[in-house]
Amino acid sequence: MRQVLKRIYYTLRPSAFPDKQCAFLFVFHVEQMYDDTLFQNLISFCNGFAEETGVEPICALMSGANARVRDGAAKAHVSMDTIAGRMHELAAVATLGYHGHFWIAPNDFQEYESEIRCNNFVKASVMQQVESDLDWFDQYKVPIQPIYSAGWWFVNSDLLAKLAEKGFGLDFSFSHSPWFRNQFSHRILMTQSIPAGEPFRIATGQGDINCVQTLIGCSGPDRIEDFNRNIARLLQRSPRTVMGALCSHDYDLRVESSLRCISALAKNPSVRILGYQELKAIDTAALRTVRATGSL
Ligand SMILES: [Zn+2]
Repeated sequence: MRQVLKRIYYTLRPSAFPDKQCAFLFVFHVEQMYDDTLFQNLISFCNGFAEETGVEPICALMSGANARVRDGAAKAHVSMDTIAGRMHELAAVATLGYHGHFWIAPNDFQEYESEIRCNNFVKASVMQQVESDLDWFDQYKVPIQPIYSAGWWFVNSDLLAKLAEKGFGLDFSFSHSPWFRNQFSHRILMTQSIPAGEPFRIATGQGDINCVQTLIGCSGPDRIEDFNRNIARLLQRSPRTVMGALCSHDYDLRVESSLRCISALAKNPSVRILGYQELKAIDTAALRTVRATGSL
């Protein structure tokens, strides 16, 4: 029924791709590596993505040190060795990065109040959890690249400085999407007048990080017209040339419809799909630099 209504809607109101030159990359937030089905779906998607685009997607991973991952793995009777083995398998078809989710107290991970999203930030808790996540990746030799994408879109100057100190040079945590923002990132974008789709450089005091904004979710739109309508709305005040990430979670990915959308984008002459090599080659000198100030 929904499909029929959408067909009628788009016949009456055709939804065109925006009149822009777009460079897109795809970033997964991978949270449930202990789930057999989700893992197989993710591998299928990454293989299909490479066939359609010639490049790999990026998979930003929660570590096995994360309290919620440990709990999920225990309930699924999946060992840390298995989770790490899957990450190594994933590294053959995707570029790996880091996806942080932090709690005031990790032992209280089931308490909503403990989730660090915006202004309930406690610096020491975040710093400790970044350390333990990165130690876990080291321990299991998971080949993550210095790429970060925020959990719950939580980002601030302290976290960025910590990531820079740890060698991270590329971030996807900023966004103009109303669903993907927090006070800090929204304030930076607004006060610096950075439009959707403009990459920029953020000076953290511990080193600079290239920020490529996340644009919209792409878990598997019903139709390419849905994608076009949403991206056109987000980019309506953007310049002619834009760059940004499309994102999905492992747990809400719809493999077939998402790949249909990626296939349509890959065939669109106004779209270029980027992999990590192209992102590493961004001309840093051409980006404007803003200072990360304030925790909120
Ligand atoms: Zn997440």
